[in-house]
Amino acid sequence: MLYANGYSISLDRREPGADIDFISHAHTDHTSAARNNKSVLASRQTVDLVRGIHGKNVKHYDSSRHGWISLLNAGHMLGSKQIRVDDYESGKRIIYSGDYQMQQSIASERIEIDRADTLIIDSTYPGPEVIFDDKETVEDGIRKWTSAMQKHGIVLFGAYAMGKAQELIAILNAAGITPVVSKKINDVNSIYAEHGVKLDYVSAYKGIGDHEEELKRNFVGIVENHNLGALPYLLTNAYGKRVFTAVATGFAKEFQFPTDAQFPLSDHADFWQAVDYIDAVGPGKVYTYGKSAGEFAANLKKLGYDTQPFNAPKERAVLYNYNQNKPF
Ligand SMILES: [Zn+2]
Repeated sequence: MLYANGYSISLDRREPGADIDFISHAHTDHTSAARNNKSVLASRQTVDLVRGIHGKNVKHYDSSRHGWISLLNAGHMLGSKQIRVDDYESGKRIIYSGDYQMQQSIASERIEIDRADTLIIDSTYPGPEVIFDDKETVEDGIRKWTSAMQKHGIVLFGAYAMGKAQELIAILNAAGITPVVSKKINDVNSIYAEHGVKLDYVSAYKGIGDHEEELKRNFVGIVENHNLGALPYLLTNAYGKRVFTAVATGFAKEFQFPTDAQFPLSDHADFWQAVDYIDAVGPGKVYTYGKSAGEFAANLKKLGYDTQPFNAPKERAVLYNYNQNKPF
C-alpha cells in the first residue's frame, strides 16, 4: 500500500481498506482488486479490458479532483500506466511502475518517464542473465520465419491473448500477413480497435469474417499458448498440411519450448533496461515489487542502488513520516 495526502492506494493488489485501488494494466495478475461495481483508478482502456475480457463490471475512478495523482504511459500494453504521486506534506514524488517496457511496441504507446524521489519498480526480470534483443530484430525474425514456413504449410503461433497477440498481429500485418485468431484474441482486438489500434485479422469462429476461405490457404494462426498442444495435430488432420509452430514470449530467453521456433518478444524491460529506467527516474530510494522483488533488490544493491523489496517489514518505517505519525 502506498500512502499520500491522507489516502491509502493499493498497487495492483487487493488490499482491504484501501481508499484508492490502482490497476496499472489489464493482465490478470494485476487486476485482483477488480470487482463488480467497484471504482478502480486505471486508464479508460484498462477499465474497458477488465469489463469486456475479465467480466468484472468495474467503474472508472475519477482522479481529476486529486491534482497530486498522475498516470503516465508504461509502454507495456494498451492502456498500461505508471502512477505518479506528489505528497504535499513530505514534498516527495513517488512513482510506481507496474509492468513497463522501455522499447517501443508496435501496438502500444511509448513509455513516459518522469523524475521521482522514490520509485517502486516491477521485478519481472530480476537478474542480469536475461538480455532481450533489439525489438526490431525480433520482429524481423518473426516475419522472415513466418513467410518462409508459410510456403510449406500452416503456421501457428501461441501468444498471450491480451497484449502479446495484438503486438504479433501488428508485426505480421507489417509484412502483409493477415492472421487467423481465436475468439478470445478477437475479443481483445475489438477493444484495441475501440481505442484506435487497428489490426488486420480474421476470426476463426463462425459469425465473423471469411475464415472459411482463409483456412483453405496456408494460413497463419494465433491462439493462446495452452491451445498450441493439440491444435497442430487437429489442423494436419483437417487440412492435410504440415503445421509449423512457434511461441512469442520473453520467456523464450529462459526456456526451451516444444515448438519449431521461439521468438523472445517481450513486453517487459530486462534487467539492464530496468537499470536505464531507474537512472532516468533518478530516485534516491528504489523499492522492488512483485514475486522476484528480493532477487531484484539484491542485484540492484550490487550496483550501488539504495533498494529493498516493497513488502519487507521495514517498508512502512521508511514510507512513514514518524514525526507526524502519517504516511510520508
Ligand atoms: Zn503485464
